Amino acid sequence: MGHPNEYAGDTRWGWNCPRCETEATVSRDPDSETFRWECSNERCGSVGFGFTSRRRARIALREFREAYQNVYR
Ligand SMILES: [Zn+2]
Repeated sequence: MGHPNEYAGDTRWGWNCPRCETEATVSRDPDSETFRWECSNERCGSVGFGFTSRRRARIALREFREAYQNVYR
């Protein structure tokens, strides 16, 4: 189940989907060597990919949330 340290890091960072607030998982794509976040709610299905690091994925996730909330107001 991966590296324990990475898992602990992900928990601490607190990833959440911008749309539905469900926990989002971040994983590394071994083919393209990029990171992706993925909503764990199947009915939502939000996903972002192509990030060069976990940190960039998190930044993108936050920007996605802000953009989504601006559209929604
Ligand atoms: Zn979602």
